[in-house]
Amino acid sequence: MSEALANLLNETRQFPPPAELAADANVTADAYAEAEADRLAFWERQAGRLIWAKQWDQVLDWSNPPFAKWFVGGQLNVAYNCLDRHVEAGRGDKVAIHWEGEPGDTRTVTYAELHRLTCQAANALTELGVVAGDRVAIYLPMVPEAAVAMLACARIGATHSVVFGGFSVESLTNRIQDASAKVVITADGGYRRGKPSALKPTVDEAVANCPSVEHVLVVRRTGEEVAWSAKDRWWHETVETASAEHTAAAFDAEHPLFILYTSGTTARPKGILHTTGGYLTQVAYTTHAVFDLKPETDVYWCTADIGWVTGHSYIVYGPLANGATQVMYEGTPDTPHKGRLWELVDKYGVTILYTAPTLIRTMMKWGEEIPAGYELSSLRLLGSVGEPINPEAWMWYRQHIGRGELPVVDTWWQTETGAIMISPLPGVTAAKPGSAMAPLPGIDADVVDDQGQSVPNGGGGYLVLREPWPSMLRTVWGDDNRFIETYWSRFGAGAGGATGAEWVYFAGDGAKKDDDGHIWLLGRVDDVMLVSGHNISTTEVESALVSHPSVAEAAVVGATDPTTGQAIVAFAIPRGTAETAGETGEQLIADLRAHVAKTLGPIAKPRQIMLVPELPKTRSGKIMRRLLRDVAENRSLGDVTTLQDSSVMELIASGMSGGKSDED
Ligand code: ATP
Ligand code: MG
Repeated sequence: MSEALANLLNETRQFPPPAELAADANVTADAYAEAEADRLAFWERQAGRLIWAKQWDQVLDWSNPPFAKWFVGGQLNVAYNCLDRHVEAGRGDKVAIHWEGEPGDTRTVTYAELHRLTCQAANALTELGVVAGDRVAIYLPMVPEAAVAMLACARIGATHSVVFGGFSVESLTNRIQDASAKVVITADGGYRRGKPSALKPTVDEAVANCPSVEHVLVVRRTGEEVAWSAKDRWWHETVETASAEHTAAAFDAEHPLFILYTSGTTARPKGILHTTGGYLTQVAYTTHAVFDLKPETDVYWCTADIGWVTGHSYIVYGPLANGATQVMYEGTPDTPHKGRLWELVDKYGVTILYTAPTLIRTMMKWGEEIPAGYELSSLRLLGSVGEPINPEAWMWYRQHIGRGELPVVDTWWQTETGAIMISPLPGVTAAKPGSAMAPLPGIDADVVDDQGQSVPNGGGGYLVLREPWPSMLRTVWGDDNRFIETYWSRFGAGAGGATGAEWVYFAGDGAKKDDDGHIWLLGRVDDVMLVSGHNISTTEVESALVSHPSVAEAAVVGATDPTTGQAIVAFAIPRGTAETAGETGEQLIADLRAHVAKTLGPIAKPRQIMLVPELPKTRSGKIMRRLLRDVAENRSLGDVTTLQDSSVMELIASGMSGGKSDED
C-alpha cells in the first residue's frame, strides 16, 4: 500500500527538562500511567480542580456519538470559578491582569476588581434583557473589558461569540446573524500601530443588517468621536454605574458557554460550540500541567488575541481558573519599536511566555540583536501554538529568548478541541525541536493511514483522536450535519465502518510518528502536495528551507505540473536585510534548492523558489497557502526567480492588506 504522507525530515536533537523545573513540576510522569489506567477517573479528578454547585452523576455520556456529554448532572458557574473563589480565599488583592496599552498607558487589575467589574457587567447585561441561553457578540480590542465581557456572559449563562477586532463588516455581520446575537459589546476603537483604530463604525454597519441585535454596549477607549443610535449604551454609563452585588447562579455542565468561529484558513468558518464543565476542567488542567503554572510566583503572558481560541482558553479561562497573574498587551509587537515584547517581559518579570510560530519567525527576520538588548532573565518556560513550529524556529526561540536553556512546549490543538491536546510536559518530556511529542494524559491521539489503520513508527498519515475529551466541541452551531460531516465521517463508525467500529475524530491535519513514536505535525491535509506519486507535507519542505541560515520564513505550495502532477513552489523570506538577499538572490536560490534536496531528498527539491519580503497570512498570523497556490498557478512563473517581481508581490500584498475577508 502507498504511504499516506511521506516522512522526510530527520531531526535528532533532544532537550531534557531542566533539573530544577523537573524537581518541582506540577505534573510528573505518573499522570500518564494514571490516565492510562482509568481515563474517566483521571478526568473526574481533574474536574475536582473546580468548585461545583452540584456534583455530576456520570463522567461521560457517549451513548449518542458523536454528541458527547461530560459531567452529566453537574452544575457550576464559570465566573465563580475564575473570580469569586479566589476572592473568597483571601486573594482579592492579587493582580489578575497587568494591562499595557499600546501607547504605554497601564492598568493593574486585581482579582477583586475583575470580580467587581464582572458583577457590574452581569447586572448591566441583565438589565438590557439578556438571559441565560441568549447570545452576545463581543468585538473589542485587547482591553481588560474584553475579559470582563466574556466572564459576565458566563456568569449569567449567556453564550458569548467573540469576533476578532480586525474582522471586516461582512465577517462580523455573518457571525452576528449566524448566532442571532441579542447584544453586541464593542469599543469606540483601540490602538494599533501607533494610532487609534476605530471599531464602532464597523459595528454600526453590521448591526444595520442584524435585526436580532437589541443593544450595543460601547467601551470608551480611544475617545474618538463615534456615531450614536438609539440602541447604543456607553459601558461607563451602564456597567460602571450598575450594582456590584451579583450572586452567580450555577448552570448545567453542558450549558453552552461560547461559540467561536474557526479562523477560516481553509474554508467557510464554522461556529464551534463549547460548553461549561468539561471545557473549564480541561483548560484549567492543561494550564496547570503544560505551563507548570505556579499562581503564587509566576507571571504568565499569552500574546494571542482574545478573538482566537488561544485567547479564550489561555488568557481568560485557563489562567483565571488557576488564579494566575498575567500580562495583557493591547498592541502590535513592533510599536513603538521591535523590542516591545521583550521590554514588557523585563518590565513585568514574565516567567511563562506563550506565543505563535509566526511571531518567532518574524523575530528571526528582525534579527537576534533585538532580544539581545534585553535581560529576559525572568523567563522559565516558553510555549508555541498555531502552526507547526519549524525546528530552526524552535531552536532560535530556545536560544535567543530562552537563554539556550529553557524548555519549549509546542502545543497542538484547535478551536474544535478547546484545549491543548498534544504537547510535551515541561518537567517530564525530553523535547525535540519541532515536535509536539505526545498526547497529554487522558487524550487518545493517533496517526492513521487512508484506511484508518494506525501507522507504525516512522510512518506518516492523518491525525485523529480516538476517544472523546472533556473540552471537545459539542457541535457546529445550528448545523449538526456539518459537525458530523467535517469531523466524524472520514474514519471509523461515522465513515460507515463495520458494526462495533468506534467513532474517530479527524482533525484535518497531517502528522507522522518518528522512530520513538513521537508526533510531528505536518500541516493541513488540504495543503499536502502530490509530487510524482509521493504525498509531501508543506511543513517538512518549509522546515528544510528555514534550516538554511539565510531563511527566516518560508511557505511552499504544490502547483500543477505537466510531468510530476504537482511541483513544489516555495516562497522564502530572507533573514536580516532584504539588501543582502538582493545582491545574492540568484545564488541563494540555487543554494536553497540544493539544501532542500540534501536535507529531504531530491523528491522534495522545489521547482521554483521566490524570495519575498512578506507572506500572506490570515488575521491570526497563519500562512495562507491557498492564496500562494493561486499565485503559483495563475501565471507562468518561468524565470521569476528574484524578489524584484513586483506583480507577484502585489498579488501577495493585496491578499495581506486586509482587503481580503476570511470568507472569500
Ligand atoms: P479553519 O479550521 O477554519 O481552516 P484554523 O484551522 O486555522 O481555521 P484554528 O482552530 O485556530 O483555526 O487552528 C487550528 C489549526 O492550527 C490546527 O488544526 C493546526 O492545523 C494548526 N496548529 C495549531 N497548533 C499547532 C501546532 N502546535 N503544531 C502544528 N499545527 C498547529
Ligand atoms: Mg481548523
